[in-house]
Amino acid sequence: MENFQSLGLPEALMHKLEHLGFNKPTPIQKQAIPLVMQGRDILGSAQTGTGKTGAFGIPAIHKLLTSKTGGVLIITPTRELAAQVHESLTAFLAKQSSVKSALLIGGEPMGKQLNRLKAKPRLIVGTPGRLNDHLRNKTVDLSQTDYLVLDETDRMLDMGFIPDIERIFEITPFTRQVLFFSATMPPEITRIVQTFLHNPVRVEVARQ
Ligand code: AMP
Repeated sequence: MENFQSLGLPEALMHKLEHLGFNKPTPIQKQAIPLVMQGRDILGSAQTGTGKTGAFGIPAIHKLLTSKTGGVLIITPTRELAAQVHESLTAFLAKQSSVKSALLIGGEPMGKQLNRLKAKPRLIVGTPGRLNDHLRNKTVDLSQTDYLVLDETDRMLDMGFIPDIERIFEITPFTRQVLFFSATMPPEITRIVQTFLHNPVRVEVARQ
């Protein structure tokens, strides 16, 4: 894929990409987006700054705009990264889009998140701890999640979030597509990849 035009993206999304100055895909976007749009699981290694968010975000928004069912869940290790990813993805959506989103992070009042969840968001970005609080309280429904992104998974390992990640894998549908990013592959992460990913394609991009 040499340009975004060749992907057959909805006009509203192409318009947003133009508006955001996304004229040409970055190397990781070139590699990953066509594979993701074919439905493949991805095992990726790319740093922030390479356009990684667009690599998983553009196909996520394409999916949400072209299908009435299914949900996207993106998990990041920190609140700051979750907020940044949420902002980047909602920037791909038109203001009046019927696709609702929620940012589920710790250190924020539950009330605001509960209100967002009542609107049945199909795009959820969050950190593992707060996501699991919502799961325990039965305030989030992940049964329709068919596109799951784990970003900076090795940092989640360092922060002790692996049990939370495994729980999320176990309660989302087996048929979900998984995009898994990690700079390193320690044994705990290899085990998760082997257990939960289906024949993933490796995508690697060095820092630009
Ligand atoms: P990321 O690595 O996803 O955090 O992206 C780094 C920066 O590059 C962000 O400010 C993005 O908005 C920008 N960016 C990502 N992809 C493109 C692209 N194809 N064209 C122009 N800017 C981009």
